[in-house]
Amino acid sequence: GRVILSGIQPTGVPHLGNYLGALSNWVRLQNQPENQLFFSIVGWHAITLPQSPSELVERKLDMLAVVLFFFQEHNPNHTELAWIFNCLTPMGKLRRMTTWKSRLAASKNLGDAQVDETGLNVGLFTYPVLQAADILLYKATHVPVGDDQTQHLELCRDIADQFNRTFKGKGKERMFPLPVQLNTPISRILSLRDPTSKMSKSTPDPQSRILLTDSFSQISSKIRSAVTDSTPGITYDPVGRPGTANLLRILRACNEINTNTYTTQGENKDDSDAALYSLASHYASKNHGALKADVAEAIEEMLKRPRAEYEKIRREEVYLRRVAREGVEKAERGPEVTMREVRERVGLV
Ligand code: ATP
Repeated sequence: GRVILSGIQPTGVPHLGNYLGALSNWVRLQNQPENQLFFSIVGWHAITLPQSPSELVERKLDMLAVVLFFFQEHNPNHTELAWIFNCLTPMGKLRRMTTWKSRLAASKNLGDAQVDETGLNVGLFTYPVLQAADILLYKATHVPVGDDQTQHLELCRDIADQFNRTFKGKGKERMFPLPVQLNTPISRILSLRDPTSKMSKSTPDPQSRILLTDSFSQISSKIRSAVTDSTPGITYDPVGRPGTANLLRILRACNEINTNTYTTQGENKDDSDAALYSLASHYASKNHGALKADVAEAIEEMLKRPRAEYEKIRREEVYLRRVAREGVEKAERGPEVTMREVRERVGLV
């Protein structure tokens, strides 16, 4: 069977991009009996950026009520293994991570007093190593993530390989598998305000994303004000008309989920997909208003049940705390065995 690992940060209520790009795919993976899943809410990743402690407590419960995972920070094995991996990872490799490079570039654009890396925290620099520990602690074989994570997963394989070669066991069996990426079946959902960047929980403008908790009127108003273009008629042109293409992609994904035909798994549906051109052709002689009305309806149809469930479960804090506790109890078993062997191989028994 496959051991599948993924995580989500407790940085806010999930948005449409999280839902289409990750959550609905996770449900599909969960329904395949050959898979063993270890999914967590990754608080240690969230604090690489400043968080208000009281807010973080609430955001963790928000996310727990959506996904019912365990909390990474309830299992200290993650940080212990990450430390050991830190001591096997050259700084040069981490400096080449594009996520790190874009953090650096962003801090320069903000005109920070520190224009070099010395102003950024070490956690931000080394979090891909923590991610490798998150994955390898469970000896995961498959990791469902988007394209932006390919480089981190390569690093994870390098670290696994480095550990396996440096610390050979008595029987010389390798300690960690080299996990492979399961591509997310849809391309990124883009921001409704700026279709050159992805929809994200942490972008300041709340109009840029649809939340799982939004009412139909909020969904409609956000979609109505989505940035598109002034070309008359609807065509699918992801390069020339990214805002319009984003709406078409959202519409198609929602339609597929609503009709239970959202099946593609493990491969990226690319932008030349015939289904998107065909969908656009239905709107060829219509305007953005007609398309947007249908997009809002399709999102509402898709989200109304999960939204109602969420609102019910979010109020049940006793139940939520039990889910978190029972989750980590199950998730700890394998890692405790793994960590005993890791300590032994490293010489830290
Ligand atoms: P943040 O803004 O706090 O960094 P995020 O919204 O980017 O968060 P994460 O918690 O980093 O989300 O990621 C959770 C999952 O959602 C990941 O598997 C990620 O690939 C997926 N995801 C995030 N944003 C999008 C998007 N716009 N389109 C499709 N998938 C997305």
